[in-house]
Amino acid sequence: MWSAAGRASAFDPFGIVAGISPALVRPESRGFLRLKSADPHEAPEIHANMLSDPRDLAALRRGMEITRDLGNAEAMKPFVKREILPGRFAGEALDNLIRDGAMSMHHPTCTARMGRDDLSVVDAGLKVYGVRNLRIADGSIMPSITTGNTQAPCVIIGERMAEILRA
Ligand SMILES: Cc1cc2nc3c(=O)[nH]c(=O)nc-3n(C[C@H](O)[C@H](O)[C@H](O)COP(=O)(O)OP(=O)(O)OC[C@H]3O[C@@H](n4cnc5c(N)ncnc54)[C@H](O)[C@@H]3O)c2cc1C
Repeated sequence: MWSAAGRASAFDPFGIVAGISPALVRPESRGFLRLKSADPHEAPEIHANMLSDPRDLAALRRGMEITRDLGNAEAMKPFVKREILPGRFAGEALDNLIRDGAMSMHHPTCTARMGRDDLSVVDAGLKVYGVRNLRIADGSIMPSITTGNTQAPCVIIGERMAEILRA
């Protein structure tokens, strides 16, 4: 999840605008998918629950403070005319700005995670518990989300599946 440092309406269309956006790569908030019926063609409910854990908002707030310090640092002064956002926003107003601007980074994973507890969906061989002849090889099997981007780990998961099937 990342928090946009500004909104389009606040930008000067004739100036050069640069932004630094803090990203929350280890969110504590947890969402879930819920099947609506046994019909496999019916779309599931998706509850992202973003920022439901207060630690996530606190981390993004700290990220905003750090990015402000960077943007307003002495070394940046020759390049910076003025700060647009968050500027005067502080306290609850800053929290609301973060809530309004935060968006998903397109890395949903872990909905069919690999593991050995009751909530795990696949085992170490990518086999779905309780279903014969079904394996999963995509981002959903990650036990926890990667700190970096997710596409390369998905390739590795696919290659591992190929190895397992060839063995
Ligand atoms: C806008 C965007 C930007 C991103 N940018 C980056 C980036 O810069 N770097 C990075 O590392 N990651 C990036 N990601 C994340 C990365 O693309 C995903 O994490 C990764 O592609 C997930 O791979 P996957 O195999 O789990 O799922 P997917 O790539 O979503 O593959 C699922 C496949 O299953 C197919 N499918 C779905 N339902 C069915 C069905 N019923 N029957 C048959 N096939 C079905 C779909 O058509 C699709 O081809 C981005 C994601 C998005 C959305």
